Amino acid sequence: MMKIKVNDNFARLKESYLFSEIGRKVRAYQAANPDKKVIRMGIGDVTLPLAPVVVEAMEKAVKEMGVKETFRGYPPEYGYAFLRDAISAYYARKGVKVASDDVFVSDGAKSDVGNIVDILGKNTVLIPSPVYPVYMDSNLMSGNRIELLEAGEADGFLGTPDLLDGETYVIYICSPNNPTGAVYDRAGLKAWVDYALASGSLIIFDSAYEAFIKGDYPHSIYDIEGAEKCAIEICSFSKMAGFTGTRCAWTVVPETLVTEDGFNLKKLWARRQATKFNGVSYPVQRAAEAALSEEGVRECAALVDYYAENAKILSEMLDRKGIFHTGGVSSPYIWLKCPKGMSSWDFFDLLLEKVQVVGTPGEGFGEAGEGFFRLTAFSDRESTIEAAKRLETLF
Ligand code: PLP
Repeated sequence: MMKIKVNDNFARLKESYLFSEIGRKVRAYQAANPDKKVIRMGIGDVTLPLAPVVVEAMEKAVKEMGVKETFRGYPPEYGYAFLRDAISAYYARKGVKVASDDVFVSDGAKSDVGNIVDILGKNTVLIPSPVYPVYMDSNLMSGNRIELLEAGEADGFLGTPDLLDGETYVIYICSPNNPTGAVYDRAGLKAWVDYALASGSLIIFDSAYEAFIKGDYPHSIYDIEGAEKCAIEICSFSKMAGFTGTRCAWTVVPETLVTEDGFNLKKLWARRQATKFNGVSYPVQRAAEAALSEEGVRECAALVDYYAENAKILSEMLDRKGIFHTGGVSSPYIWLKCPKGMSSWDFFDLLLEKVQVVGTPGEGFGEAGEGFFRLTAFSDRESTIEAAKRLETLF
């Protein structure tokens, strides 16, 4: 028997049975009802292919890798300058100032969200609930103390710092939000930035769904004055350009993030990445650069618009039926209240049995999600229209 010690914080993690349980129930239903067509609106993965300009750039880069003169070995640890510059320019087009040098390219927002805990010490972490589970689990694994910021119907699932007492936290904010689809306006984000500045807190802002924003909402935390002194931002090409299988993302750690003990967070993150990460492949970085070009942004916006139209179809159906929901406008997610006080899982079973539509029980995103249900807009148009019709008969 081994005598080593393991990280026993892993014992704090709850068994993650959400998607396996959904899969098990759907397989059992389909086996018993082989003639029924089940429509899946549960997964948060894109379905449309990469934009042509992205594929072209990747092909060209792959060819360069096959020629001695243009072959490249290890990429720079923090990303090629061409991509860091393109990301900085992408922000500039939205009126937000982010220096190329503060941008760290990575293989995914999930990796960065999970890894950022490496550079932080024993803080109290404030996590919204319901929540993207990675924030919670990465902090449980690190043995951190966690407080939940519960949000609900009354605040449109947009938690505020109003009831906090000035304690210093590491605060996670995701806008537009997964799973609720709710998006903060400028005043909402300003309240968080003001709280962080006054309390010496750090905000970790996840903007993975910013490309879905419609209307005058901030796409970046750096749209808010003072955020460069209290916030790290993590964003991804996954949903904006369909890169869930291609893998590329970035994290912004401004030079101005300094602790009272004199630590510079950017230096720590640079050291962490240089030690534990060897960069994103050249063809993928060229593909990401192409996604941010003028043509790329246009082509990728067409992908996002397709999903957004799906979301609108579902959201309008819920409006007609008077069902409370958030999301569906600036987000590919629709977060709805289960009718008649049903639990998330009872509603899941009902949808599967009666109309063969599969979604995700809100309880899987934390206790505050109980009684709610997530539908995604990543299916094709035909299935979405059919699902909306079937759901309409049920409500
Ligand atoms: N952040 C949020 C809120 C997400 O919902 C997801 C993916 O579903 C990610 C990050 C992960 O992004 P990536 O594919 O870049 O790892």
